[in-house]
Amino acid sequence: MRKKIVAGNWKMNKNLQEGVALATELNEVLTAETPNCDVVICTPFIHLATVSDIIDHSVIGLGAENCADKASGAYTGEVSAEMVKSTGAEYVILGHSERREYYNETPAILKEKVDLALINGLKVIFCIGESLAQREANEQNAVVKAELEGSVFHLAPAEFANIVIAYEPIWAIGTGKTATAEQAEEIHAYIRSIIAEKYGDEVAENTSILYGGSCKASNAPELFAKKDIDGGLIGGASLKVPDFKGIIDAWK
Ligand code: PEP
Repeated sequence: MRKKIVAGNWKMNKNLQEGVALATELNEVLTAETPNCDVVICTPFIHLATVSDIIDHSVIGLGAENCADKASGAYTGEVSAEMVKSTGAEYVILGHSERREYYNETPAILKEKVDLALINGLKVIFCIGESLAQREANEQNAVVKAELEGSVFHLAPAEFANIVIAYEPIWAIGTGKTATAEQAEEIHAYIRSIIAEKYGDEVAENTSILYGGSCKASNAPELFAKKDIDGGLIGGASLKVPDFKGIIDAWK
């Protein structure tokens, strides 16, 4: 049975004190009322070790938003997968469209990052999704297929079990425009079908595929009701506990 997951991506928001306050409040709320899904928060690197000590890891998983494409050494300013793991984090987001676009992360670079994350025992939330121009040209299926082939389809089935896919149409991220539940379900079903072609039906059935892009408490129930949508990767709405909790409660 695949997992239902609501994961927050804090991006470059919250200083350490603010992040500690947010994680503390979320931990209080979710330990008082156990969620019906896995909850993960992905924070800036500098928050990880402190937040790891604050949260109950049986209720909230912790992840980074990136890791280096090198194992260790003279790479000033980089943070390795091993370092992320040593903070107590269990996940890392890789392939987010902001990193692909602003930091020129290519499929080949992401493949290195994926391999290092898995070697170090991290689960990967791997983001894929098309731009508005690609959607208008009806290229969305080809885009997500190429992104999977470029960075995760080299994995053995046992390794692929540690990959969570996040489908995030770039035109819906932070824009207030959400894909309709039907649009999202159509491409989630396609993504599951190409995972089945590559790894077989059982692996495909066990892969969690999250939707991301202006997901909020008001649209989460309709999105999560679709059979191939297993939860959400949440940006803006993960920065306030009531907003994030509202999305988590969509699984009730
Ligand atoms: C994201 O960037 O992963 C995201 C889904 O952002 P938002 O929810 O703000 O659209």
